[in-house]
Amino acid sequence: MVSFAGIMMTIKKLETDLASIKAMADKREAENDAFRVFIKNSHGEEIDSLVQQINGVVESAIDCTECGACCKTLMINVEPPEAEKLATRLGMEQSEFKQLYIEESLQGHLVVNQMPCHFLAGTRCSVYEDRFAECREFPHLQRKNFKDRMFGTLIHYAMCPIIFNVVEELKIRTGFKGSADL
Ligand code: SF4
Ligand code: SF4
Repeated sequence: MVSFAGIMMTIKKLETDLASIKAMADKREAENDAFRVFIKNSHGEEIDSLVQQINGVVESAIDCTECGACCKTLMINVEPPEAEKLATRLGMEQSEFKQLYIEESLQGHLVVNQMPCHFLAGTRCSVYEDRFAECREFPHLQRKNFKDRMFGTLIHYAMCPIIFNVVEELKIRTGFKGSADL
């Protein structure tokens, strides 16, 4: 049962060190499996509301341009108009842009053809204003049905500081204490 008592945000310190997050993620694998089952048995709309509130605090406090971890590891889907827009920005012909940066599947789906992404410069996106929708929307914590998407979210828990901090705060806010709660 989810408790909303004390919903006031009291996140004192966000963890943003990628090596520390990876190390903690390795240790918490079993705990996170148990938490996923716990969330699966919770009320979906309450969990969505809680995740969105926590995410609002965490996301605004973490500077993605100082991280860039997802740009190194995600396969980014691209819509044709996005490719056109970025090609124009870069002063390139569509054909040249696609040849250099895009892979097209047999079904006609476009993806960036390299990880880390071509457009990552250090930890920053060099085309930030014209980055793809998939980049803008990751890690998708404002979407509904968090509990049904939790498996996919936890895949990136060890890599994304936003996901890591939201999940850890969610454990506190839901009163999760570990496998004893199942
Ligand atoms: S386009 Fe920019 S935000 Fe998107 S993956 Fe590449 S570097 Fe990251
Ligand atoms: S979305 Fe997550 S992994 Fe990507 S840059 Fe922001 S904090 Fe880093």
